[in-house]
This record gives sequence, C-alpha cells and structure tokens, in this order.
Amino acid sequence: MSQAKGRILLVEDNELNRDMLSRRLTLRGFAVSIAVDGLQAVSKAGEEVPDLILMDISLPELDGWEATRRIKAAPTTAAIPVIALTAHAMAGDRERSLEAGCDDFDTKPVELDRLLGKINGLLAGSGK
Ligand code: MN
Repeated sequence: MSQAKGRILLVEDNELNRDMLSRRLTLRGFAVSIAVDGLQAVSKAGEEVPDLILMDISLPELDGWEATRRIKAAPTTAAIPVIALTAHAMAGDRERSLEAGCDDFDTKPVELDRLLGKINGLLAGSGK
C-alpha cells in the first residue's frame, strides 16, 4: 500500500457531495474516511484521530460547529485541524466557524485546488 499524503475525515451528510469530494481527494493521494452526521464525526474523530477533518456545517444530530466544539474540547482530538465547509456564503459563518474552534473555512461548491491549498497548509503546520 502506498503512503497516503494524509488521513482525512470527511464529514458530509449529502451523499452526492460526499462521494464526489471523497473520490477527488482519494485521487490526489489522501486516505479518506467518512462521517455522515455530527455525532458520528465526533466518535470517528476519537477512534481514528485523522490528520485533518473537513466539516460540513449543516448536519443532522449535531451541526458542524457543535461537533467541532466537542472535538476541540477532547484532549485526544483537540490538535486535529478542522476546515469548516458551508454552502452558505453567509457573512457570519466564517466568524462562527472560527469561534467554534475551526482552523479554516471554505465554501461549497468546493474549488478543489483552493481547498487543497488550505489542507496542505494545515498539514504542513501540524508537522505532517
Ligand atoms: Mn450538510
């Protein structure tokens, strides 16, 4: 098995978005695992301790902000970089994401090269 560029936990409830982004990240050399709601995001983050989390904000069970708060509050997962993804380019979403503990923020539909720039920057910053 070849060395992955990093292990990413992709949290997204929309199946089409999830499959497309997961496939594109896999093609770019990342090992991708999936969570489909906020509670699963928190539990998988704890079990897998991925290198980075892509966190949709609008999610069932817990929204992406609350899931991020819980991930950042737990010692095992606190250091994992989180990039919030939202479909709404609402002015306040970026601030709310950063307040919740997200390390960065991007909007959907994803522009892959822009998102990869943020992913690689955070992985480099965390020593990966
Ligand atoms: Mn969603």
